[in-house]
Amino acid sequence: MRDATDDAAVRAVDSATVRQPTNVLIVGVGGQGVIMISKALAWLAQSQGFEVKQSEVHGMAKRGGAVFSHVRFGPEVWSPTIPKGEVDILVALEWAEGLRWLPYLKPDTGIFICDTKRIVPPFACLNRHPGAPLRYSRETPAEVRAHVLEAYAIDATRMAEELGNDRAANVVLLGAVSTAMDFPVADWERAVTEFVPKKTIAVNLKAFGLGRGWIDDARRGTPAALEAEPVFATPRAPADTPYNVRLEITPGWCKSCDICVKLCPERCLQLNSERIVELAIPEACTGCRLCEWLCPDFAIRVHLDSVQDMVAAQAGARQ
Ligand code: SF4
Ligand code: SF4
Repeated sequence: MRDATDDAAVRAVDSATVRQPTNVLIVGVGGQGVIMISKALAWLAQSQGFEVKQSEVHGMAKRGGAVFSHVRFGPEVWSPTIPKGEVDILVALEWAEGLRWLPYLKPDTGIFICDTKRIVPPFACLNRHPGAPLRYSRETPAEVRAHVLEAYAIDATRMAEELGNDRAANVVLLGAVSTAMDFPVADWERAVTEFVPKKTIAVNLKAFGLGRGWIDDARRGTPAALEAEPVFATPRAPADTPYNVRLEITPGWCKSCDICVKLCPERCLQLNSERIVELAIPEACTGCRLCEWLCPDFAIRVHLDSVQDMVAAQAGARQ
């Protein structure tokens, strides 16, 4: 295993001299922006004169389904799909999805860049009460790093949230990935500008810079990246911890699909007379977050206020 502090922690994939295609596999779940960064990378590689093949598989159309995309570029690329064990860079926007695809990484040279964001699928929440154990990957970043030659666990979602837009987490990861390829930074930024919504260009360029900076810090062994081992907290509160569940509903984004109403385990949601979702029985809501994960339109955010305060306090104490 090589430590993140190792000088050779991130090798540039010297695209100009490599005859074999460079293989990048991007994975996550629906709604995280897997396809967007895949398209941006493919577009960029093509603009640099490479032959590019990109393929993608969407899981369920709604949020929560697995999504992955293969991007291959080089002087010549024949197949759009990357064989198992041939991925040069595995980029994961969700922790368990990243672990699931690890066997695709080249065992000797592959780079693993993973957001520590955890999106627990509904079938892993067998008991939906606060504090109940989840059937979800228990591996910590340190344990994964011990088994992968070169691995980075980045709290990209938190970094994007601090910028004021958690949807930019995928671009934080793109910034991290950019350090493993020798394309000019200005061209990467052009690709970001090309593919993100126009109103979010500024925040996404900042997100890109943060991702690059995080990896640069890791290469130099300097503080921010290495000391900030991500908080790997369960998204739900411990059973004996008082907390406030607050649902933030954006009416303009609700398309009345009824998914959250049907799947809320406590049956505490309903559509109002205008067919917009509302929390009908607040005292029954456990903060399980299923509605947030399953809404295809990002219309619901679940806030566990006291838990967030607790995590922030823990992070502050470690600094
Ligand atoms: S409203 Fe959402 S967070 Fe509350 S119990 Fe239902 S699915 Fe879970
Ligand atoms: S909040 Fe989302 S899942 Fe619920 S009805 Fe509206 S669009 Fe559908």
